[in-house]
Amino acid sequence: MNLARQIERYLPRQLLELVKDISRQAAERGERVYLVGGVVRDLLLGYPNLDLDLVVEGDAVKLAQQVAETSQTKLLAHRHFGTAKLSYGDFTLDLATARKETYARPGALPTVTPGTLKDDLIRRDFSINAMAISLGSNDYGELADPHQGKNDLEHRLIRILHPGSFSDDATRILRAVRYEQRLGFELETQTAQLLKRDTSMLDTISGDRIRHELELLFKEKQPEFAVRRLAELGVLPRISPFLKGDGWIAEKFDRARRLKKPTQLPSLYFCLLIYSFGEKDIEKFLARLNIPAKLSRAIRDTLRLKTSLPLLDKSSLKPSEIYYLLREYEPLAVQANAIATDEKECTPSLIVHQHLQLFLTKLRYVRTALNGEELKRLGIPAGPEMGQVLQILHKAKLDGEVRTKADEKKLALSLSPKL
Ligand code: ATP
Repeated sequence: MNLARQIERYLPRQLLELVKDISRQAAERGERVYLVGGVVRDLLLGYPNLDLDLVVEGDAVKLAQQVAETSQTKLLAHRHFGTAKLSYGDFTLDLATARKETYARPGALPTVTPGTLKDDLIRRDFSINAMAISLGSNDYGELADPHQGKNDLEHRLIRILHPGSFSDDATRILRAVRYEQRLGFELETQTAQLLKRDTSMLDTISGDRIRHELELLFKEKQPEFAVRRLAELGVLPRISPFLKGDGWIAEKFDRARRLKKPTQLPSLYFCLLIYSFGEKDIEKFLARLNIPAKLSRAIRDTLRLKTSLPLLDKSSLKPSEIYYLLREYEPLAVQANAIATDEKECTPSLIVHQHLQLFLTKLRYVRTALNGEELKRLGIPAGPEMGQVLQILHKAKLDGEVRTKADEKKLALSLSPKL
């Protein structure tokens, strides 16, 4: 099958010119270049994907260096891995030396040696990701599909390439579900059986790698579908027995998406995912996934605040009281609790929810108009006394007792002699 016409139509002209230039220079070096992986899959599906991966039968790093010298691209090379990234305006191109991989033991990082395109495709995760398109001048656009990926695309199936695939690298369990749910495909029958058989192999995967796959999953449009499916397949309990993928998660993830920018969503999803954990259970989870310090703080705060929510369940609370109850928590933890308590039918939690919302949308941004310098000019000395004045002013501002700078001055001067 030849996809030359689709490539010409699909890729922006400048990017296409660059890709052709890379291929020309490769040919002069006696090397061959292919488009590979996700871009080929998406090109066949007609989906946009400008994250281009190129495989080089030859030396990808030397080729990329040569291209960078003769074009307006920026180069980032990883000689040790035989990979290079070329940036060109908004586009990036990843070049990798075709490689052969062997696994010394399940979950270990593979031993890598240079190989052919065929070697490079058989090491891949699923048939739909194991296709390539030649960019050589004599067979430009020709599809290489040794594992019937196109056929699986047509039958909407996720299929591994050999029965040991999940045990070699159990991150593929999470990847399989991510693609299945993103594309609305199904796990092919034997792949589904092997996935269930090999869930225990997740124990061989480092926390960083599992977390990275969950982060990728959380970048999907509707990750709740994949979370539900992972629960159904018995994968979630393998990561932590307390993880759930139920309707509550689905509803809260959906809510989170309406409130947060895409960049902040993955962290918020983590805080919601663990909402049913006890404070004691969470430490094992944080350690298992080697969660970085900032996110760990937000996750711990989410649960700490959850147990303190009854303190907010009083309609008589003043704004300043709400502020001083909540300011010690990471804003992400407050946000997670606001989403968790957003249930229309439940009156006590409606008050709690309103207080959390008030903090998030208003109270945490309130500042006094007067600063330390101005207070000094009013005759209030720096030190604990000034700290007290500032706090009283801040509370008064939160509670609407002062509005203007003049109000604050008046209040500050009336306080000073008493202090
Ligand atoms: P997308 O970015 O749309 O999720 P992609 O296919 O570009 O899809 P990447 O994670 O960038 O995904 O990986 C690029 C390619 O590398 C994949 O298409 C796949 O062929 C291969 N790959 C990635 N991870 C693995 C893995 N754990 N095992 C085998 N092959 C993998």
